Amino acid sequence: MKKKVEIVRTFPDSTLKIKTKNVESISESVIKTLDEMVKVAKMADAAGLAANQIGISRSLAVVLLENGDFLKMINPVLKESEGEEVDEEGCLSVPDSVIKIPRSTRVVVEYLDTDGNIKTFEASGFTARVLQHEIDHLNGLLIFDRLNPQERIKFLREYKK
Ligand SMILES: [Zn+2]
Repeated sequence: MKKKVEIVRTFPDSTLKIKTKNVESISESVIKTLDEMVKVAKMADAAGLAANQIGISRSLAVVLLENGDFLKMINPVLKESEGEEVDEEGCLSVPDSVIKIPRSTRVVVEYLDTDGNIKTFEASGFTARVLQHEIDHLNGLLIFDRLNPQERIKFLREYKK
């Protein structure tokens, strides 16, 4: 069970459904936001977090790595993806819900690091899934948006109860 953390926005908060804006310059506040996001992710015991989940509509994400560190990403985009695997996924912003979602098993993501360098990061398995989940957030998509139209309607009807 994920811990509830006050600062995290939950559906139907509108910030979650809006595509985030790219970061144009890496200011002090961008660095501070990424640090805050890591803190929130750790508090919530989450494998990743997108900035719009804490109400900041900017393309920033943090993702837990296998070594326990969080990768801080500015303007991350999916460059390559291959394979497909269906697995259960939850989300801090869609509390108490677990949905089976197909995701690519291997991805390559391009992003800027906090020094403004263009980086690529390749991941597979769980980390690849988390990366796709966070990039979905930045595009205004939540886990139920990955369901087929009928399942999505059914999910949302149940969710509102
Ligand atoms: Zn999420």
